[in-house]
Amino acid sequence: MEPHIHGEPATGWIEVICGGMFSGKTEELIRRLKRAQIARQRVAVFKPRIDTRYAPDAVVSHSEQALPSMVVASAREIMDLAREAQVVGIDEGQFFGAELVEVCQLLAQEGKRVIVAGLDMDYRGQPFEPIPQLLAIAEYITKLHAICVRCGAPAQFSQRLISRADRVLLGAADLYEPRCRRCFEPPGI
Ligand code: ZN
Repeated sequence: MEPHIHGEPATGWIEVICGGMFSGKTEELIRRLKRAQIARQRVAVFKPRIDTRYAPDAVVSHSEQALPSMVVASAREIMDLAREAQVVGIDEGQFFGAELVEVCQLLAQEGKRVIVAGLDMDYRGQPFEPIPQLLAIAEYITKLHAICVRCGAPAQFSQRLISRADRVLLGAADLYEPRCRRCFEPPGI
């Protein structure tokens, strides 16, 4: 196992930043990773190939904060690419599938701090795996909220504004708006 910078054995852990669209998940991920970089920790940042918003090789939040990242086709690829990292950031975790859970476990087992940001519910308001599974095994959980565009209450749902049955609509952030539980209208299945 890789030695900690101060010589003690490294202890890894998993942090999950979840919430709906427009809740600031990526911004929070970038904030944590930048603090680690300031402390001269080796940081590696990953996002799935499926997320083509904004820059192809950077994690970018809606407010244009950016951090260079590696685009990977599967969670498995992260294992190799993160070998030297002390802190591993993963954005859009919901797109990696069930494999992400095991990969995060292994990385944390190796002594790394693993921070995953992702949607915890899909457009129907249903749990969006593997984020629920990650929440169960994480040491630290942060659930962020947007603000409901209808009434101003804290919003945890992503209301799809067009009628489409695909779970993922790429590059379509403008086709969603944040809604609270009272104002959210789940689509008929
Ligand atoms: Zn509302």
